[in-house]
Amino acid sequence: MSQDSRFLAGRGAVVTGGGRGIGEVIAEELASKGASVVVSARSTEQIDRVASRLREAGHEAYAVACDVSDRESVAALASAAVEKLGKVDVLVNNAGVAGSAPLKALELDHWNHMMAVNATGTYLVSKAFASAMAARGWGRIVNIASVTSRVGTPYISAYTASKHAVLGFSRAIASELIDKGVTVNCICPGYVDTEMTVQSIANVTSRTQLNDEEALRAILDTVGQRRLIAPQEVAHLTSALCHEHAGGTTGQAIVMDAGGLLA
Ligand code: NAP
Repeated sequence: MSQDSRFLAGRGAVVTGGGRGIGEVIAEELASKGASVVVSARSTEQIDRVASRLREAGHEAYAVACDVSDRESVAALASAAVEKLGKVDVLVNNAGVAGSAPLKALELDHWNHMMAVNATGTYLVSKAFASAMAARGWGRIVNIASVTSRVGTPYISAYTASKHAVLGFSRAIASELIDKGVTVNCICPGYVDTEMTVQSIANVTSRTQLNDEEALRAILDTVGQRRLIAPQEVAHLTSALCHEHAGGTTGQAIVMDAGGLLA
């Protein structure tokens, strides 16, 4: 294996929401590029399973439970990650929740939950790791935002607002960290083939006459997307943004929607 294929060797990485879906595949991708990885989420069974699988494949990986919306829990993640990895050079803010409701039925609890996990979680975890990256003069923060960071579509206004917040926050801190060797970028996927999309389909079928296939088509049509994105596509772009030579790319919102926004 060439040295460049393990370009994250010696780097410590934290992936939130790493117990399943996109985060699980990102953790695998970063580990395959040589990073030592802390896999984090609330479900200990899921993060233990992912970390064990990575260790069995010969990688250094640890599971650390954390609720990203809880300040104390994030502080505990930060200490545990530094204890296990020595230093954290790469942070992937991937933990997220989704939900839908038309405005007339949008409850405050739903709104607060989206904001707490997606927006406040990204702020809390970034704050916990960014200063040490800046002090060492190197860091990569990749935020898994959404195509809804860039557009508005019906029935997901709370999710959309939270993902717009992630993008605004990312751009602002990217400009603060620009001279410190730390990049901050957002990947903005359209619908990805994970449990979250399965839930979105179930929400549509429970409220309409549509079957699963028709519901998926209807969801994809809201953003002009021709096909689902594979989690591996998001993971590959994440690791590319963490490359040594990606230092000139910061404050960006990279849309990955199989051409939807071009439509
Ligand atoms: P998923 O399969 O539902 O996984 C979400 C992950 O986030 C899980 O590991 C979950 O674990 C974790 N999580 C949820 N709430 C958390 C909290 N309070 N604290 C810590 N971890 C938490 O979803 P996914 O599709 O992989 O989505 C991953 C990210 O991509 C999300 O930010 C999502 O908004 C974004 N995204 C997804 C799509 C899509 O179509 N799937 C499209 C665009 C963007 P626990 O529940 O165990 O904590």
